[in-house]
Amino acid sequence: MVIYRAYKFRLYPKEEQRILIHKTFGCSRFVYNYYLNYQKENGVQKSFNLCKDLKELENNHEYLKEVDSCALRCSIFDLEDGFNNFFAKRNGYPNFKSKFARQSYRTSLIRSTYKGKEYSNIEVDLLTRFIKLPKLGRVKIRGFRNKERIEGKIVNATISRETTNKYYVSVLVEEDLLVEKVTATSIVGIDLGIKDLVITSDGIKYSNEKILTKFEKRLKRLQRKLSRQVKGSKNYLKTKEKIARIHAKIKNYRKHCLNDIANEIVDEHDIIVTESLKVADMFKDKRKAFNKSLSDASLSKLCSLIEWKSKIKGKYYYKINTYYPSSQICSHCGYKNNEIKDLSIREYDCPECGVHNDRDINASLNILLEGLKLHYNLQSLV
Ligand SMILES: [Zn+2]
Repeated sequence: MVIYRAYKFRLYPKEEQRILIHKTFGCSRFVYNYYLNYQKENGVQKSFNLCKDLKELENNHEYLKEVDSCALRCSIFDLEDGFNNFFAKRNGYPNFKSKFARQSYRTSLIRSTYKGKEYSNIEVDLLTRFIKLPKLGRVKIRGFRNKERIEGKIVNATISRETTNKYYVSVLVEEDLLVEKVTATSIVGIDLGIKDLVITSDGIKYSNEKILTKFEKRLKRLQRKLSRQVKGSKNYLKTKEKIARIHAKIKNYRKHCLNDIANEIVDEHDIIVTESLKVADMFKDKRKAFNKSLSDASLSKLCSLIEWKSKIKGKYYYKINTYYPSSQICSHCGYKNNEIKDLSIREYDCPECGVHNDRDINASLNILLEGLKLHYNLQSLV
């Protein structure tokens, strides 16, 4: 099975490398915006034709030749993806890139042979902690301390500067992984919630570490401070950077928590079943607080982590229909109790069989049963 894995390193460019990185951000953005405008006026074209035209553009704008030409072509491919997504109704019409947003550029790997020796324009050396990048040469990196080398073939690298003023490089690697499906002996149903992020049919609850509330005080104080400062002044920019740093901290901490939960669930079970989420629909709800904790919980991120980890570990992952009334059905006798629609009822005795049900655990048990049906239907087809 071919999988793609991204390795993200902190990047420490020297001053002249930093300048070149910024030039490349600018040039990639210029090429993107130029061809977006061009296609707005002349209709959408194949990236092959635009890449041919790029040569002309480079001759008219000499400074484009200073930067990695691969990055400029990647801009054209990104734009093509943008149009493809638009035509497939996955996304809106491509927008012009602004220099005030997060800055990044992508470059792809090129292999060459010279005098019998193989060379490539992107190389990662984890022993000396350097990455070789086109035009930039060797740049110091940090990350993946416990690895000696990266397995697989490098596909591309994305260089970015975050709002925290830190530089990163994300290296995409293609790996041929030998995965054998496990013999399924243990199954778990998972109810996804807001108060508790995850409730498993084993009765384990992973509480939503209200991560935002932990940082909220500091964030609010800084935002108040920012509003009093003169826009664009030195102190204003300093505060702005501090705010960006807290946002980055929240993001990292959340990622860390979700990874831990997903690892634990996938390691301990062979068949994992969740509801399929329709987050977009849920966000239409105008209750702000509800939305905030929902986004805070990053449920869809968690599901994609579970899906990915199940795939590479040879486990089975199923999503069941969102409209399945998992909390109203008694997992013991199958009686559908409409009164349970009321979210405030956390525990109840089933009027049919008398079993005492915890709302969330009962729901996760129902999800497990639905998943089990799905699993055996699919397996009998094999
Ligand atoms: Zn019952």
